Amino acid sequence: MNAKIINGKIINGLSSKGIDSSAVLGAIAKIPRESFVAPPFRHSDMCYGESPLPIGHNQTISSIYTVALMTQALSVDKSHKVLEIGTGSGYQAAVLSLLGASVFTVERIRDLSMQARTVIESLNLHNIIFIVGDGSIGYGEYAPYDRIMITACSPDIPAPLFAQLAEGGIMVVPIEQNGTQSICVIEKKNGAIVAKNIAPANFVKLIGKNGYEAQKSSQRCGF
Ligand code: SAH
Repeated sequence: MNAKIINGKIINGLSSKGIDSSAVLGAIAKIPRESFVAPPFRHSDMCYGESPLPIGHNQTISSIYTVALMTQALSVDKSHKVLEIGTGSGYQAAVLSLLGASVFTVERIRDLSMQARTVIESLNLHNIIFIVGDGSIGYGEYAPYDRIMITACSPDIPAPLFAQLAEGGIMVVPIEQNGTQSICVIEKKNGAIVAKNIAPANFVKLIGKNGYEAQKSSQRCGF
């Protein structure tokens, strides 16, 4: 099968699961996901399959459906300043940047950040700033952000990140409650949290001051 057919199949698959934003589907169609995963996972069944895939350092890239769902829920437009916590492979940041947003992406593992930067530069995507550090405290320098996406599971909404979200802004974050993870969409309305859960999730942990403690880093949240 050639790349165009594979792409068409994937986009149809996402549409049939409720991803109806043409901007999100368009961005996903343009980013070569193979570039963000290790060679053994580049086969399309794996790369575009339903499971998260390893990216080294005990971390994972989310399935394409999870990326699509979270990106759609974030409701990004070109004028937005977006903070992503958990650069990982850089794939999610690449999708956000193709929506025209200015992306700030924070990763605690330097090697992963460097690797992601190399791939993103090779794809000629320029509107992404890479930051190495503990994203559970956010990144105050460029706050407030119109949109915040956390791509690691948190025990709660990290308070500094909610503080750095602009009024009327949206944050998407997987949260663990009673051992189960859900993707939570949070709006800041008159300074207050308005939250809803949209789907079950399966993320690695957010490690840091406002996340989980470092010694639990090898465990996954939830199931
Ligand atoms: N968005 C990524 C997948 C993220 S996996 C992608 O598209 O590939 C979760 C990432 O969060 C991991 O790389 C992990 O190292 C990172 N992470 C965990 N806790 C963090 C923290 N406190 N600050 C920044 N990154 C963190």
